[in-house]
Amino acid sequence: MRPSSVAAGLASRVCRWALLLGIAASTSYATTNYTITLANPDRHLVDVQILLTDGLPQRELQLPVWNALYQVRDFAQNINWVRAKDRAGRALAVRKLDKSRWQISGAQSGAVIEYQMFVDSPGPFGAEFNSHHAFFNLAEVLMYPADARKEITVVRFNQVPQGWRVATPLTSMPQGSFSAENYDRLVDSPVEIGKFQESDFDEAGGHYRVIVDAEPGDYDMGKITATLQKLVAAATDWMNDRPFETYIFFYHFPRGPAGGGMEHAYSTAIAVNADVLAKAPEALASVTAHEFFHLWNVKRIRPQTLEPVDYTRENYTRALWFSEGCTSTAADIIQLRGGLLDERHFEDSIASAIGELERRPAHLTQSAEESSLDAWLEGNAYYRRPERSVSYYNKGELLGILLDLAVREASHGKASLREVFQWMNQNYAKKGRFFPDSEGVREAAEAVSHADLGWFFAKYVAGTEEIPWNDFLHGVGLELVVGRSTAVDAGFQASRNFDAPMTVVTVTEGSGADIAGLKVGDIIVEINGTIVGEESSESTARLVPGDAITVKVRGRRGSERELKWKVGSRDEVSYALKDVDNLNAGQRERRAAWLKGEAQIPQQTYSHP
Ligand SMILES: [Zn+2]
Repeated sequence: MRPSSVAAGLASRVCRWALLLGIAASTSYATTNYTITLANPDRHLVDVQILLTDGLPQRELQLPVWNALYQVRDFAQNINWVRAKDRAGRALAVRKLDKSRWQISGAQSGAVIEYQMFVDSPGPFGAEFNSHHAFFNLAEVLMYPADARKEITVVRFNQVPQGWRVATPLTSMPQGSFSAENYDRLVDSPVEIGKFQESDFDEAGGHYRVIVDAEPGDYDMGKITATLQKLVAAATDWMNDRPFETYIFFYHFPRGPAGGGMEHAYSTAIAVNADVLAKAPEALASVTAHEFFHLWNVKRIRPQTLEPVDYTRENYTRALWFSEGCTSTAADIIQLRGGLLDERHFEDSIASAIGELERRPAHLTQSAEESSLDAWLEGNAYYRRPERSVSYYNKGELLGILLDLAVREASHGKASLREVFQWMNQNYAKKGRFFPDSEGVREAAEAVSHADLGWFFAKYVAGTEEIPWNDFLHGVGLELVVGRSTAVDAGFQASRNFDAPMTVVTVTEGSGADIAGLKVGDIIVEINGTIVGEESSESTARLVPGDAITVKVRGRRGSERELKWKVGSRDEVSYALKDVDNLNAGQRERRAAWLKGEAQIPQQTYSHP
């Protein structure tokens, strides 16, 4: 996945994640049948019916407490009521066991469970139903029978408004229903229902569908499709693999605050604010490359700690620096190979990411693995403060860059990050195995480089040692230049938790913001008349010290107020990458291979290790 995170108006990037690999379908013929009735769009209500086949007299139904984000969101809070009956229509006893689990008695001859649910959470991480459309992450809507999660599932949509169509990676069945081999696959398959626009294309044997739900004037389907063709061609070539026949891109381009993407095994759902799309179309390529690469990294090259998914509580994993951060590294390489990113912008983005990490005091106290374990705390504003946490996206993306460089150095140019990913694909994904978190990454990196890389993982993945950037960059003839610059200081820092509103996390005592009355916890609605979306930062980045800033905020009790002050300045450490003096031929050659994401001296493929 990719969230939007923004600090003190510094634009930053977005990410996220998702679900599973296919587990062998149950050998029994039992099927769980779901009907979702789109009953009341104006009140955002859906009626759900679950048909259970014959079985034990007592059955338990569980609604996941988390999905799409590594955050417990307790979707059960939106269920109005639950009831059950047998096939003859006689009421069955329903006993609530905890906040998200219900027990049905008398179900030996099957049972019909019904509940009503409020679904009004927009974006790729949510479930939403209104008079415009429906978009569902089904784990947020559908309970599963606790004893039959591996059964085949069939879902049907009822009372679909006139003129609306259904798009989903689920398997189409007769009479408009859809099936999945089990619940995990079902809920890894988002569903868009509405009057979307659709395009499709074929590339290197794969079929791709593009589903867009947005104002037609806000995007150019031809340009989007051209970008996607470059990305999928570059990615499948880089991985030398295409583990699907058909893949779906779901896009929403809302005019309000939005940003982020969610990966699935056979699709991705992405939201980009319409203004951002118009002004910075590369934002779409960046988030799409990340989400598409997840179809390997995290969906198929999957850490053991995320398996099986525990829908009742947190799955703790140390692997997100790799599964998320290195997905961003791979996305950079795919964009470079697809001609969607050039060397200058790539190196600038590395310098900017180094700055983001180095400016957070927590880089000395929280490791990349600990940041991954603490992903479940990201919903709390205090947790996102610079002295409390680093981002596994930010440090992980840099670790991906460094691991690539370390493998090149250790193997004398014979291997790279590409071989690491291909090795993991062959030795874990293709064999239906899950990798043992950081230890599995180390195993792959050492296998392709034939070198001991324990130091790398001990110091920078599990540890919090200062990273000697130039030791890594020297091989490709680059060095980090650390300078000082005067930066605008708006007097506060704000950040977003995925697609949640941007929230103030710090206010500098005695600053203009403080005197004007800005409070920690205030939600930023507008800065200088511009809605704060993914790129809110742009509005403050253009200011110079002494400029006036007007910020519209919503307080904790919901009341809006407008605050004005003059922005100040502060000294800041700046970071840039530049060529080393006397760049030699060896460095030039390694740089060229690095920018292609390839080993200098191809040695072997990893299909038969
Ligand atoms: Zn991601």
